Amino acid sequence: MDLQKGLPVTHISHDEVVKAMCTCSLCGTPLKFHHVTDFKAKQVQEAAQCPACGIKTKVNVFDLQ
Ligand SMILES: [Zn+2]
Repeated sequence: MDLQKGLPVTHISHDEVVKAMCTCSLCGTPLKFHHVTDFKAKQVQEAAQCPACGIKTKVNVFDLQ
């Protein structure tokens, strides 16, 4: 049976997603998060860095509501 082939992956739990986002994709070390709030632009910039190998993830920008 191959009924699930081609369907979007929706069975990943929220915890798994968060865990994947919070650990280094190279070495699995928990990432250090930095948040910078720009009140003028009404945005929060989120960046994460691995303390072990030093890679930085892309910066996520959230609009303040
Ligand atoms: Zn790492």
